Amino acid sequence: MINILRIGHRISRDKRITTHVALVARAFGADKIFIDTPDKKIEETITSTVKRFGGNFKIITGADKKKILHSWNGTIVHLTMYGEKLNKIVNKIDKNKDLLIIVGAEKVPPWIYEISDYNISVGNQPHSEVAALAVFLDRYTDGKWVNKKFNGNLEILPSNKGKKVLSKKY
Ligand code: SAM
Repeated sequence: MINILRIGHRISRDKRITTHVALVARAFGADKIFIDTPDKKIEETITSTVKRFGGNFKIITGADKKKILHSWNGTIVHLTMYGEKLNKIVNKIDKNKDLLIIVGAEKVPPWIYEISDYNISVGNQPHSEVAALAVFLDRYTDGKWVNKKFNGNLEILPSNKGKKVLSKKY
């Protein structure tokens, strides 16, 4: 199972970017996102996406990050521009173990770097948690996320022009 832990979420400032972190997590093959701050609005947005577009992606807000991290039975990866290069580490991660991927918002406290098994950078320039997560999941799944079946009520049919949407229920 692939899980995300979004830390430092500030409701007013980060609502769009945290929503995008969750949407990228779901689309790129993760199973669950934990968000440290309680935020019913993001829960509703993501739950509505799952209801329409399918899959079993779960969202939990108001998650106790210390409890989750101290009791995690699997691998913990922290995405940070200060980490070791993605290329060097990604193939060392045991894919048979549950994975928890931490992404920050504001400054990430030092204990997060300590508790993580791997601090991994997606390039050593500052950019975005959305981009870092997408590139990491693409590499971790060897690009296989793209074949994931969601079996949703809505399915988009790839098309060169216009929008082709298969609607099973609506
Ligand atoms: N200033 C914050 C700090 O010192 O930790 C980082 C803020 S950054 C906008 C938000 C998040 O994006 C980071 O916590 C990290 O998870 C992710 N991020 C940004 N650039 C990254 C990079 N080059 N590699 C991996 N993750 C990155």
